[in-house]
Amino acid sequence: MNNLIIGSHVSFKSDDQLIGSVKEALSYGANTFMFYTGAPQNTKRVPIDDSKTYEALMLMKENNIDLRNVVVHAPYIINPANSANREFNIEFLRQEIERVESLGVTKLVLHPGSHVGLGEEVGIKNIIDVLNCCILSDTSVDICLETMAGKGSELGITFKQLKDIIDGVEYNDKVKVCLDTCHINDAGYDLNDFDKVLDEFDNIIGLEKLACIHVNDSKNIKGSHKDRHENLGYGNIGFDNLINVIYHPQLVNIPKILETPYVVDNDTNKKSYPPYKFEIDMIRNKKFNNNLLEDIRNYYV
Ligand code: FE
Ligand code: FE
Ligand code: ZN
Repeated sequence: MNNLIIGSHVSFKSDDQLIGSVKEALSYGANTFMFYTGAPQNTKRVPIDDSKTYEALMLMKENNIDLRNVVVHAPYIINPANSANREFNIEFLRQEIERVESLGVTKLVLHPGSHVGLGEEVGIKNIIDVLNCCILSDTSVDICLETMAGKGSELGITFKQLKDIIDGVEYNDKVKVCLDTCHINDAGYDLNDFDKVLDEFDNIIGLEKLACIHVNDSKNIKGSHKDRHENLGYGNIGFDNLINVIYHPQLVNIPKILETPYVVDNDTNKKSYPPYKFEIDMIRNKKFNNNLLEDIRNYYV
């Protein structure tokens, strides 16, 4: 009956690695999750401990979490569009692919990057070059290029740009797309008419390429090019439009991942709490909770 695949961003810590990520996801009532293999803003990574991975896989099996729905997000210090960092980009993305493969995860989300003044055409060429150096005939993970908001000189803000990147990659059966609802709103796509957006995606890229959906509301209006996520129903996309995406009949088998902001404690203004357990509840009930922020604070205090 309920084959909704829903989860959120969770942490991956050096002490218990994937076991900790699974436990966090379960605490939110999720049946999938996404994580960074280390801090997204630096290159420090702990070696993957296979015995911990094995224990985590057992825990997932007991709780009906399918590893094929689990997602890793590549660190955003990789900017494949900027050739000034070419060697670093290639080396680090290769290592990241290896780490993801050793965990058995099959989806790696990657930001296409920012052209930093080089221009769209050169930026796209650079992205293709990095992908061709990292995706080999025996690569067993799909690189999911994320749709971007268009902040600064970001690329991947139109379906056409993503299609151009995919077309340039040799083993492009391993290049997929991660659609982020906040990002496409900020890029100018109208989520009030999601069927039209999906049609456009299908015509330009092909729906079979859609491998992951990031479900976020947006603090900003359509076309703002800002990229600031908001809790579900508290932003400019709105709860009903997000429910429409989550339960869309053409997207049932695609994992939906929440990356909405933590809720800040009213009193101390220092602590903040994950919203995911309560947002997943709203999603399963298909009912907006206008007391969401208070409920979250009360639960975690
Ligand atoms: Fe992202
Ligand atoms: Fe995202
Ligand atoms: Zn974002």
